[in-house]
Amino acid sequence: MSDAELNLAYLLAAALFIFGLKGLTHPRSAVRGNITGAIGMLIAVVVTLLDQGLLRPELIALGLLVGAAVGAALALRIRMTAMPQLVGLFNGFGGAASVLVAGAVFIVAAHSAGAMQTAADAADAAGAAGAAAGAAGNAGSAAALAVSAQETVATAASGLIGAVTFFGSLVAFGKLQGLVTEKPLRYRGEQVVKVVVLLAALAAAAMIVLEPLETGRYWALAAAAGLLGILLVLPIGGADMPIVIALLNSYSGLAAAATGFVLSNTVLIVAGSLVGASGIILTQIMCKAMNRSLANVLFGGVGAVVETAEQDDLYAGKVKQTSAEEVAMLLKTARRVAFVPGYGMAVARAQTAVRLLTEALERDGATVEFGIHPVAGRMPGHMNVLLAEERISYDKLREMDAINPSFPQTDVVIVLGANDVVNPRARESSGNPIAGMPILDVDKARTVVVIKRSLSPGFAGIANPLFAAENTLMLFGDGKNAMEGLVEAYKDA
Ligand code: NDP
Repeated sequence: MSDAELNLAYLLAAALFIFGLKGLTHPRSAVRGNITGAIGMLIAVVVTLLDQGLLRPELIALGLLVGAAVGAALALRIRMTAMPQLVGLFNGFGGAASVLVAGAVFIVAAHSAGAMQTAADAADAAGAAGAAAGAAGNAGSAAALAVSAQETVATAASGLIGAVTFFGSLVAFGKLQGLVTEKPLRYRGEQVVKVVVLLAALAAAAMIVLEPLETGRYWALAAAAGLLGILLVLPIGGADMPIVIALLNSYSGLAAAATGFVLSNTVLIVAGSLVGASGIILTQIMCKAMNRSLANVLFGGVGAVVETAEQDDLYAGKVKQTSAEEVAMLLKTARRVAFVPGYGMAVARAQTAVRLLTEALERDGATVEFGIHPVAGRMPGHMNVLLAEERISYDKLREMDAINPSFPQTDVVIVLGANDVVNPRARESSGNPIAGMPILDVDKARTVVVIKRSLSPGFAGIANPLFAAENTLMLFGDGKNAMEGLVEAYKDA
């Protein structure tokens, strides 16, 4: 392949990645965006293999088949609530690939440079006359130079970021999967230990740049960076893992971009940079929606406290329990109904019953909308994906700012397994973990029906005054059972 053909194909792949990302910005175009990006990646992979003279069609087909089978099996089998750890694992593999590819290229280059250096030295030592020794000597220093600047810096960056990503992602996966304790693991001198390990990794990186022929240092760097990844993620609580995973996603992109510089591969640099940038933007969006700084997520440790005493005070004698029949009667006369789904809807898999009730309400002429908080559930877009599974029209899904003004005109709001995202305590300026977080103002609606199993707090671990509010009715039960009961009661009402 000529350079021009190669670069043209890479340009096309890069454009497809960017159009793919654009498609992902809206649920309606998300599937198309995904496919567009995947086609870009296919082009990039095939063209790279062609350029390297590795095009054995049967091997490529085999690789595609095995990869697609593993990916499809994982994607089909995984529960929606387990999606963050799957994404975490994929990021980790990206980081590991960067460490291994950059390391392999670097070691091969360093060895051949080393061999040429030895040949030049030998020629010098043998006193071989002028031209031969000079030529070999020049070749030796040229080869050493070839592994000096761009390659060594990029290799060190790739090894450092890639190993942090891989081992950090493994811990994140372990926490979400229940293999490692979800609790923030804190100990005395934690920050000092992390700084020491970071300095060790940086020292190994500096040695690689200064003495590129000593390849053993690369593995020392990978080991120190891997340890750093573990130490960085262990002290973070399990519930904050989705944000950590978004951040590690960004790191995996940076590691890939660095590997792109090692290989001088433009499309890898572009793809890595896109992943790096979009990961950091997602991290920032999540932090903003939770009104927390990244530093607070990384070093804070939320979700540990449950204020039982305060909870008793708040709820005593004020919580009104209701039944499916009573809610069905309310819904029969309602003109405007809103659902506010949260983590509990995902756990209970109650979305099918939500669709059935929506259809029944609309048949009776009611307007039905969905209020979607950006951090409802446990991953970005969690609620949108579940509702899309049920083919609930995107037009009914309203973002926080769009739906909030209409709550005072809403007859009934059904809060299904949501807690923190509707907790009025977020309006306080400080003093609780969600203070300052923007919320869905469901308490302004005429009647609020909250469906959950108990008065237990949500992710932030704090009591919710909404449950004791004058206009709130609590329908206790598992989200799916309660919603199915409601669908039946509505039919009979
Ligand atoms: P919450 O975690 O605040 O509350 C979920 C509620 O669901 C619980 O109070 C629980 O109450 C209820 N629930 C659990 N299982 C069931 C069930 N089977 N049936 C019915 N109810 C059930 O969820 P929200 O969606 O309101 O808020 C999300 C929280 O997660 C926010 O604090 C957000 O900051 C955080 N977060 C979100 C991320 C994201 O990307 N979306 C990432 C990281 C954190 P009970 O036990 O009584 O049933």
